[in-house]
Amino acid sequence: MIIIIEKAIKDLVVDKIELDNKFISIKEDEQGNIKMKFSTGKWNQYIKFPNKVDEKNIYKVDIEVYCDCPSYTFGGYKYLGTINGYNFSEYEEHRPPKKSVDKYVCKHLESILGNFSNFVFILRDFLKDRR
Ligand SMILES: [Zn+2]
Repeated sequence: MIIIIEKAIKDLVVDKIELDNKFISIKEDEQGNIKMKFSTGKWNQYIKFPNKVDEKNIYKVDIEVYCDCPSYTFGGYKYLGTINGYNFSEYEEHRPPKKSVDKYVCKHLESILGNFSNFVFILRDFLKDRR
């Protein structure tokens, strides 16, 4: 079920959509990067698409991600994001985790990125309106 809670008609600065029990918003920054925010109530996940993203290359551009859950910061994912260049946070983490990590992102980001085909229409619509 898709419920469009709020849609800014004029500049589309904020789209807030509820989908799969997540609140999703999308906006463009001054540099033309597009930021999507997913909120599940407790934690927020962010994906930053570079300004070169368009409808044809959505799955081919390098993204940056961030989750504000403790696992992302303290479980080694922020460290992996920092050293591999996909940590979307103003803070870097250069201390490796004490325990080894067997994936690249926390379970929240994993759920979003693994099911991104469910959310991609939000980005597509935004790109369409941006032209
Ligand atoms: Zn998380």
